[in-house]
Amino acid sequence: MYGVEKLFIPETLEEALEILANDPTVVPIAGGTDILVRMRSQKTQKARLLSLQKLKELTGIRMRFDGSIEIGAASTFTDLATSPLIIERLPLLKTAALSMGGPQIQHVSTIGGNVCNGAVSADSAPPLFALDAELELKSLSAERIVPISDFYQGPGKVSRRQDELLVRLIIPPHADERWFSRYLKFSTRNAMDIATLGCAVTCQLNENGMIASAAIALGVAGPVPIRCNKAEEFLAGSFPSSDVLRQAAEIALTETRARSSWRASKEFRDQLIKELIIEAFEEAAASAATVERNNHGNR
Ligand SMILES: Cc1cc2nc3c(=O)[nH]c(=O)nc-3n(C[C@H](O)[C@H](O)[C@H](O)COP(=O)(O)OP(=O)(O)OC[C@H]3O[C@@H](n4cnc5c(N)ncnc54)[C@H](O)[C@@H]3O)c2cc1C
Repeated sequence: MYGVEKLFIPETLEEALEILANDPTVVPIAGGTDILVRMRSQKTQKARLLSLQKLKELTGIRMRFDGSIEIGAASTFTDLATSPLIIERLPLLKTAALSMGGPQIQHVSTIGGNVCNGAVSADSAPPLFALDAELELKSLSAERIVPISDFYQGPGKVSRRQDELLVRLIIPPHADERWFSRYLKFSTRNAMDIATLGCAVTCQLNENGMIASAAIALGVAGPVPIRCNKAEEFLAGSFPSSDVLRQAAEIALTETRARSSWRASKEFRDQLIKELIIEAFEEAAASAATVERNNHGNR
């Protein structure tokens, strides 16, 4: 039914990279939730697959000495949603993980597969763009670190070379205090539906509640996930009032290139872009206020 000619199951990363280096027709498979669907619809007859399932080097979620967080590429979305580190430090990634398909998909699909698939609707993309994630790619002869914004090159197209594996994702350190984040996904159903639009924001407030820096990242607002740099610059140094957020959302819209598809018209997506940005910042500001109240209460 799936036309698999050969399935390699290496035990180590080194072995996996050797197989990829020696046979340009071999394709990695992690959870298989994208690749198997693609193989079936394209009626692939002779796939040569490289299973990543036994590669311990691609697993684990941990904090480094400098406060950055590394996420093994083969971490499943269930791993992300249940990791104490992600829950505490990067809650927008937990939200994104829980918005993926349904529990069955979350149990097997990996963050590495989500990124390497290159879909503009990928739920991990807006959070990873907002967090300035970096990707560690390895081949038998080389290793490189690529900012996620350089990795996505077009719909379904990423800058991974055939002989490379994505080994881990690295999230640079963020301040602990007064740093807030949100991921909002609009889809027509609550589960088993890909994003009509995805919006991730992060926000660093200063002691007075003013925005010191902000990040806005969108999925399905153009051919690749994007950051809204002009809107981010506009927000820095402002208080997150309704008026400021509305203006920021209007600026962000000028940085997008949403298109009509069978899922939604361009006009609908443009409206979503503005509303989700405002809602995400309002929710982030509300959690900032709650934290501030609790801190006062504990004094
Ligand atoms: C029913 C259903 C619902 C879904 N819902 C959602 C959803 O809500 N949101 C969403 O974003 N996606 C959704 N998807 C798509 C899919 O589940 C995700 O994109 C998933 O993260 C892919 O991960 P995987 O491990 O299954 O990748 P695979 O299918 O194994 O691989 C995907 C691609 O990445 C490559 N690859 C995988 N890992 C690596 C690596 N470490 N290094 C190099 N290349 C690699 C593979 O060669 C392949 O090209 C859904 C899919 C299904 C079937």
